[in-house]
Parts: sequence; C-alpha cells; structure tokens
Amino acid sequence: MDLGIKSKRGLVCAASKGLGRGCAEALAAAGVDLVINARGEEALVHTASEIAAKYGVECTPVAADITTEEGRARVLAALGQADILVTNAGGPPPGNWQDWSRDDFIRALDGNMLSAIALMQALVPGMMERGWGRVVNITSQSVRSPIDVLGLSNTARLGLTGFVAGMSRAVAKDGVIVNNLLPGIHATDRATNLDGGASKAEGISVDEIRKRRELTIPTRSYGTAEDFGATCAFMCSQYAKFMVGQNILLDGGSSNISI
Ligand code: NAP
Repeated sequence: MDLGIKSKRGLVCAASKGLGRGCAEALAAAGVDLVINARGEEALVHTASEIAAKYGVECTPVAADITTEEGRARVLAALGQADILVTNAGGPPPGNWQDWSRDDFIRALDGNMLSAIALMQALVPGMMERGWGRVVNITSQSVRSPIDVLGLSNTARLGLTGFVAGMSRAVAKDGVIVNNLLPGIHATDRATNLDGGASKAEGISVDEIRKRRELTIPTRSYGTAEDFGATCAFMCSQYAKFMVGQNILLDGGSSNISI
C-alpha cells in the first residue's frame, strides 16, 4: 500500500531503539526522509545508518535530550521544516503517590507533556502554512487505564492528551492531523527492564514474569515495535486525513473498555 508520503520530511524523537525506532523504520519504508533523535550518540548513529542503507532515504541523527530546551533547539536547527512529527521520550520512573515532590512532577511534565507541546508549537505553524502535516504523539495505555505506580506518567500524559484534544481540532482545517498513539506492553528494552525489576523483587525468572504478564493480555503476547511503527506510519499517511484528535490504543485488548 502506497501511503502517499514519499519524500515528505519527518522528525522521530527518541528513536535509536524501541517504539521510536519502529516508527522511524515504517516511515522510512514509506519513503520519508528523516531526522531521528536520542541522547546516546553511538546507538543513534548506528540506527540512522542502518535505516538510510535499508530504505534508501535520508536519515540524519541528532544526539540530544529532547526534554530540554537546548536539546530541542539543536534538533530543530538540524531539521529545518517538517511535514511529519512523532514525539516520544523515555517514561518517568514508577513510585508511590505520597512520595512524589514538586520537582518530580516538573521533570515528568517536561519529559512527557511540555516537550511534545513545544515541538508541536515549533513545527505545526509551518505545516499549516503549507497546508499539510501529521503529528503522532507516543503516550501510553495508562491514559485510558491509569496504573497506580505510574502516577507521574499518568499525570503528564493526560495533560498532553487534553492539550491535543483541543489543538488537533483547531489545526485540522489547515490540513494538519494530530493524534496520539497509546502503547500497551511491547517487547522493547523498557518492557524487558520492567520484567527484570519484577523478577528480582519476586525471586522468579524473567521468563516466568513475562509469561505471567502475557496471560493478562487477550492476545497472550507482547506487541512489537514493527507493528507499532506500521500503525504510526498509517496515522502519518494521506489516508489519515479524517482521523482527528484520537487516542489509538495498541494494547492487545488489555484495557477492558468498550469505547
Ligand atoms: P525504549 O526501548 O527504552 O527506548 C527509548 C528510546 O528513547 C531510546 O532510543 C532512548 O535512547 C530514547 N530516549 C529516552 N529518553 C530520551 C530523551 N530524554 N531524549 C531523547 N531520547 C530519549 O523505550 P520504549 O519501550 O520504546 O518506550 C517509548 C515510550 O513509550 C516511553 O515513554 C515509554 O514509557 C512508553 N511506553 C512504552 C511501553 C512498552 O511496553 N514498551 C508501554 C507504554 C508506554 P537514549 O537512552 O540514548 O536517549
């Protein structure tokens, strides 16, 4: 299927591995020239050269912390204008609702709400002027079905969700389509690390932890970055022009909600 986005220019944040890389690969496969970002330079440069070689597109790596103003400025300077923006960053740590300080909340808001908003504010006006744009914000299933120990994430991502609900409707008439993509459990390093933590805490193997978690998912399996990326690429395609301000949940049916 031709997604109709060949030779568009896109930015995928936090993309040296995991879900961000899945999105970058699927966009590259559709012919999108990319700037990709992560903090660690070595892995990022390696990913960018693999993507450029495999798909025959431009893929420019910019090593920077996307949650800081300085990091975003460097990424935006290398990018110039963009037709497609995929926002993403690492998630806040788990914890207990009574322990989080104001500083913890500010860090979470910077990481998982304000950085995505700042990138949209920087890039969407140009998309509107040119009459075409796509934005996908990677959030979490916790937006639909909050997880108690991930309160910092719940708070920041719901703030972003509220912002997108309003602004996506304000920019759609100018051809800019903004939506959120909500991962449930996917087989990335983040999931492996969480499984490792649970394995240590409970004194059972990582395999057993994973099997137990898989049993909580109607598909009985973790999602893959490849499938996640394909959904993201569709949401950036010419066919997504009637999909506005949606929260698309990819969780294998884990969240038991009817709408
Ligand atoms: P991952 O496999 O750990 O990959 C994270 C990627 O983001 C890496 O490329 C990392 O590279 C980069 N990154 C992290 N913080 C960054 C920052 N401040 N600036 C720039 N790049 C940064 O994680 P993932 O599973 O793909 O998760 C992506 C997002 O989805 C996270 O917010 C996570 O909380 C959320 N999520 C994931 C799952 C899941 O099951 N995987 C479920 C729900 C929500 P560097 O470390 O080198 O910067």
